[in-house]
Amino acid sequence: MKEGQEHAILAAHVQTSDGMCAGCRAWWSRLAPYPCWQVEWATSRQARTFTARFLGSVR
Ligand SMILES: [Zn+2]
Repeated sequence: MKEGQEHAILAAHVQTSDGMCAGCRAWWSRLAPYPCWQVEWATSRQARTFTARFLGSVR
């Protein structure tokens, strides 16, 4: 996946009132409990980016 795509994923994959992922339902007509695997992927990827930036700023 492309760099920065996790931002778009997090913007689209939001939790609906019934606890499912709105992005998965809208994009793929798929019912997935939130957080779906794409949100998990995006958040873990963001955490790594933030950590890398933090470490880079220390040096
Ligand atoms: Zn989703």
